[in-house]
Amino acid sequence: MKYAKLSNFIVATLMAVASTNLAQAVDLSGTASQGGMLWGKVAAGTKVSLDGEPVKVGLEGNFVIGFGRDAGPEAKLALLHADGTAEEQVIEVKKRHFDVEQVDGLPPKTVTPPPEWHERRVKETGMVREARSVATDQLDWLAGFVRPAEGRFSGFYGSQRILNGVPRSPHYGLDIAGPIGRPIVAPAGGIVRLAVPDFLLEGGIVIIDHGFGVTSTLFHMNSVDVEKGQSVKQGEQIGTIGKTGRASGPHVDWRVNWGNVRLDPILLIEPEPMKGPF
Ligand SMILES: [Zn+2]
Repeated sequence: MKYAKLSNFIVATLMAVASTNLAQAVDLSGTASQGGMLWGKVAAGTKVSLDGEPVKVGLEGNFVIGFGRDAGPEAKLALLHADGTAEEQVIEVKKRHFDVEQVDGLPPKTVTPPPEWHERRVKETGMVREARSVATDQLDWLAGFVRPAEGRFSGFYGSQRILNGVPRSPHYGLDIAGPIGRPIVAPAGGIVRLAVPDFLLEGGIVIIDHGFGVTSTLFHMNSVDVEKGQSVKQGEQIGTIGKTGRASGPHVDWRVNWGNVRLDPILLIEPEPMKGPF
């Protein structure tokens, strides 16, 4: 079975709103929740859109969709078949609880970054945006994901801190703590779109394009062992754990995007066993 690897994932909860034979028209697996990604399959030639936006569909009918941290409660999946008939179904996007921590009474800090800091950040965030903006034909996302490093999970997707009443932007990565120098491997195969050893906040950073807009981003690397444009296989070493950039201790911060939509990496690996050359 093609999706055997995904058999541990929760099957998407689907509610049919129209038409017939929906179960045959689209096959979905993955986690239909905030931060979740769904692997979809339709007959070749079917056009797919999600909430009115066209979704890339492969030659064999494979597609991927995802839901952000604050998505929901429903998303509309529309199919336009090769014979011209259309149908639509609603995906219930399960709401999740994310940790929000209030920290009050902090001394107000006035940090005025120097202008060159600002310019550099604009350049770096632009490079990240560009690396994530491509939706190439690779199907590496189809085979699923492995964790990029061994170690304890030390930070989670979606968590947020409110400092002196001011909400900070949520944390969108899965932090895996481990000693400096421990291998980091590619969570899925793909093409390296960005490989830089010294971003201001992220430190050593690698972005891998898994195809169809799905990317992995890895931060705080001590060494970056790949180059832009290089092909990597799932499980292949791409660098090592570090605490470069703004990091309180050695860890790797792994992020997964579907285009601009930030997904929760933990939903892609749990309860998959650890793999890789550790
Ligand atoms: Zn982090």
